[in-house]
Amino acid sequence: MKNPSKIIRSDNLTWPDLERKEYKTAGAGFRDISRYVLLGEREDETGLNMQTRYFEIGEGGYSSLERHRHPHTVVIVKGRGSMILGERVEQIELMDAVYVAPGTVHQFHADRGEPMGFLCVVDRYRDRPEIPKDAEELLEWIPDPEVRKKARI
Ligand code: MN
Repeated sequence: MKNPSKIIRSDNLTWPDLERKEYKTAGAGFRDISRYVLLGEREDETGLNMQTRYFEIGEGGYSSLERHRHPHTVVIVKGRGSMILGERVEQIELMDAVYVAPGTVHQFHADRGEPMGFLCVVDRYRDRPEIPKDAEELLEWIPDPEVRKKARI
């Protein structure tokens, strides 16, 4: 059998041979975000038990506010922004590496005058993200009003 090792070529943070997908097909709570699954989804990549994705958030956009059991490794590879990471808001800079621990509420914001792109590594098989169903539940997730002000649902 042919060795499935390969290189997926990039052109300036696009991958012409891959599909650029909408962030999610349904639901609200996010704005101006696209994604590529770089590795770990296709049938010739079953050697991987993780997926490596690239997300890009347009200026002023944000990802879903969510939590889940699986952790994230995130590396900022374009621009900068900020994020809700559990009980705090953090500025995130180019090439910063973020660990989002299991169960941690998180949301990425491209809120510093430019788009923000990041690599995100997750388990190939993982639990579905949970999102707060209303403002009342958000209050339980993020008790600190200063942090909660940052949240978009
Ligand atoms: Mn997540």
